[in-house]
Amino acid sequence: MSNSAEFAECDHLPHFLKQLGNELERFLRFDHGDAMDEPELWQNALRGPLPERGVGIGPVMDEIGHYLIPNGSKIPHPGFSSFITTGPTTLGALTSFAASIAAPQRLGLTAFQFLEEQSLQWLGEMLTLPPHMKGIYSSGGSVANLLALGAARQWAFEQIGIDPAQDGVLKTCRLYATASSHHTIHRSAAVLGLGRNAVVAIKEDRNGRMCADDLQRQLDADANSHYLSVAVVATAGTTGAGDIDPLRQLGDIARAHKVWFHVDGAYGLPGILDPRVTPLYDGLELADSVVVDPHKWLGAPIGIGATFVRDRDILHRAFTQGAADYLEGTISDEKAQSSLDGLGIPYADFGVELSSPPRGAVVWALIKEIGKVGMRERICRHNTMARRIAERARAHPNLELVREPTLSICCFRYVSTKVADLNAFNRSIHRQLLRNGENMPSTTMIDETLVIRPCFIGARSLAHHAEELVDEVIAIGDALCKNL
Ligand SMILES: *Cc1c(COP(=O)(O)O)cnc(C)c1O
Repeated sequence: MSNSAEFAECDHLPHFLKQLGNELERFLRFDHGDAMDEPELWQNALRGPLPERGVGIGPVMDEIGHYLIPNGSKIPHPGFSSFITTGPTTLGALTSFAASIAAPQRLGLTAFQFLEEQSLQWLGEMLTLPPHMKGIYSSGGSVANLLALGAARQWAFEQIGIDPAQDGVLKTCRLYATASSHHTIHRSAAVLGLGRNAVVAIKEDRNGRMCADDLQRQLDADANSHYLSVAVVATAGTTGAGDIDPLRQLGDIARAHKVWFHVDGAYGLPGILDPRVTPLYDGLELADSVVVDPHKWLGAPIGIGATFVRDRDILHRAFTQGAADYLEGTISDEKAQSSLDGLGIPYADFGVELSSPPRGAVVWALIKEIGKVGMRERICRHNTMARRIAERARAHPNLELVREPTLSICCFRYVSTKVADLNAFNRSIHRQLLRNGENMPSTTMIDETLVIRPCFIGARSLAHHAEELVDEVIAIGDALCKNL
């Protein structure tokens, strides 16, 4: 095959898009097997030496269709409720694809950059953040938390006359979180030079919420010590059970101590749209920074998180890479006549990525497609599914509700007097669920109890998927009990 084959691809874009569309549509019906049914088949087909000469787009597209797509992930399956991740909606994926061709970067005076800012404003407004908060997209909750805590670090050190971005971390710092906080908080502490040991675990109450009294005590003690208190990290929707920390109480305490107040709502912030739980977000406006992941509940393709801060200048001071001749030097001072005459809003200086796709267009499309009303319907539907499982668990003699759901997570388990080790027993049920491949929750530990933990966020997950999960847990549990 001649090397000029690569230039032909543009001509064939509609053809291959159609082929890909058909294959993905078939994939989403999930009537293919699992990647681990016969792994040697696709591994043998894909394994091979570095190609010296290319084969051209057609044969590669065929391999994608034959070997990759059907052996992809269970994550987009409507019965998937493990972890906190999901398949993108069709429009989210399409917009992301369009951006990758039409606007590979978020810089420049393009329609895509325009939507970067507008979608952040829409997102903030939809989730009732104060209007003065401004945002920045990044690759997901991990980086979004890193940016927020980078801003917190910048601000805390500036209060004592140090610029940590220039001079480094010159004091021993503390962050206040809980055992249920996401571990990206600890990693952020490590990356920011505060150290993992800087994260103090404040006590939780019986419902997994941070104890305000304990936070108050800890901050009082640290105010009279050599520690620099950098941030209180509250979670709005914990990863394990979906609990929401008492934001107003914690925010008031943080403010009284002049400590940055961060709210990690990577998963749970969209829950604010459900009127049944809106009051639990009371005090959100006290936050100095808030994180939400459009690639979770909002149905964006993986790779989209958002950080909102009360003052984007702090992010700039924390993360600017400084002016570069090859970037700013090419910009004209005159009125822009070309989309290349300006970089636009300097998002690259608010975070850690220079090259970055324009993620805002995707969020714009998702919100535009179904509106705030459509988002609310999805979130309410999923929260209702968790409540429905709780209801059935309370009613069934062989089920136990271990934690009352707050959002779209329900922690329950199968129980029987015949079973000696319930943790091992429920682990077996879970293994069988994954093998069957129709209803796929995860498990977690609540205190010492292993629970089955569905977390519903997928746009394709509907009310009947919750019923089917409960039915299947009962059926597997009953069958295992019979063999005891
Ligand atoms: C998912 C999650 C994160 C991490 O986000 P990623 O997008 O996976 O990087 C952080 N915090 C919470 C509360 C989460 O649920």
